[in-house]
Amino acid sequence: MKKLALHWKIIIGMVLGIIWALLSSTMGWSAFTINWIDPFGTIFINLLKLIAVPLVLFSIISGVANIGDPSSLGRMGGKTLGIYLLTTIMAVTLGLVLVNVIKPGKLIDEESRIDNRISYEIWADSQGHEIKDGINYLQKEEFFERAQEISELTKSELQDAAVSDKMDIVKKKKETTPLQPLIDIVPSNFFYSLSNNGLMLQIIFFAVFFGVCLLFIPSEKSNPVLHLVDGINEVFLKMVDVVMQAAPFFVFALLAGVVSKMAGDDIGKVVEIFKGLSWYSLTVLAGLLLMIFVVYPMILKLFVKKIPYVGFFKSMSPAQTLAFSTSSSAATLPVTMECVEQNLGVNKKISSFVLPIGATVNMDGTSLYQAIAVIFLAQIHMIDLTIAQQITVVLTATLASIGSAAVPSAGLVMLIIVLDSVGLNPAWIAIIFPVDRILDMFRTVVNVTGDATVCSIIADGENMLDYKELKDPTETFDLD
Ligand code: ASP
Repeated sequence: MKKLALHWKIIIGMVLGIIWALLSSTMGWSAFTINWIDPFGTIFINLLKLIAVPLVLFSIISGVANIGDPSSLGRMGGKTLGIYLLTTIMAVTLGLVLVNVIKPGKLIDEESRIDNRISYEIWADSQGHEIKDGINYLQKEEFFERAQEISELTKSELQDAAVSDKMDIVKKKKETTPLQPLIDIVPSNFFYSLSNNGLMLQIIFFAVFFGVCLLFIPSEKSNPVLHLVDGINEVFLKMVDVVMQAAPFFVFALLAGVVSKMAGDDIGKVVEIFKGLSWYSLTVLAGLLLMIFVVYPMILKLFVKKIPYVGFFKSMSPAQTLAFSTSSSAATLPVTMECVEQNLGVNKKISSFVLPIGATVNMDGTSLYQAIAVIFLAQIHMIDLTIAQQITVVLTATLASIGSAAVPSAGLVMLIIVLDSVGLNPAWIAIIFPVDRILDMFRTVVNVTGDATVCSIIADGENMLDYKELKDPTETFDLD
């Protein structure tokens, strides 16, 4: 019998997971699924994260130390950050164009938008924000009663709880100096960075520093260290292969868990959740799919002629399907690295450096989604953002996506900063929360695909791309 390629097995796992969740929701088995199946999804993510941190550490040290010339490292670093920034700005801009053309927020019925507008005015009033655009409903006699009813609603404990502690984070951020992001990259205690997953940039800093210094010590001293690092690196890569053997089963558990948590014992709920937010979700999806199937292939065609359209997707599909099911670029990183190195033919010296940085700072899908979400939320509150405000959205969504951790829902939390930057109510993240996990799955695929695209460009520019058509995709992640 012909062996099935891994990405097909993962897709089958995902589909079966969804079918199981729908079945268990109709049969009233959600509690069973959440208690007994979902934990395997968590185990899978833990395993991948367990591998990701040491893999980044050792592969960067080995990549940098093997590069031989520290000055090429500086050039590559500059190029990497520059291109990452450009693709992110492109993504935000695409998001803004789509949301301004489709206007998903304006497709919601007039009455609820007026209610929203009143609640916005009440909130803006309490914050001392001046309301400049449109009609001021609070000043209208006929809306006064409605305003009273709504003000009860906005005080809802749920929204307050969801936002109050996040607001503290935002406030704290504001108190720091402009150079704080730079300070945050330099660790004072490396073991602290290792034990906190969010501190990937500190780990990257340490690894580059270590690798460069290794170049400057006599070879009889550096060689044994390099051999050890290379050997350890191989072990972690093998761990990825081993874990990936079970990926289809783990992905089944992940999807079954995610959908069961959404649907509970009532499938109708899922349909209800999507009804009001369907235009918004479709706009985000349209943007994300355009990025994956049009924008990145176009960039590749322009800058890296060697990689054909279908070949790129064939090579990256294990990482893409995994990004979709885990909603975490960090957890997917080990697999992204293997796909880019083994299937796209990017030299390890490039990928070990470019991809971990990308997983941490390059989130094109997240920035695109944030731009659409902010404008959509403004639209349903009858607020027209000015061009200046939209430019602020480009800047803050770019920064917020860079600052988002590569874990599920990080983009939603960082949306608070974008809303805040244009004087909108951060509590509105509660409105789009119900569909966030599904959109998160798609935006994580974009984030990972973007990293791989930029990595191929950098590798090609350095003459370190050796793409060969993948003859047999079943061999990816084989154990021998
Ligand atoms: N889940 C995304 C990622 O890991 C981040 C986000 O929430 O947008 O790439």
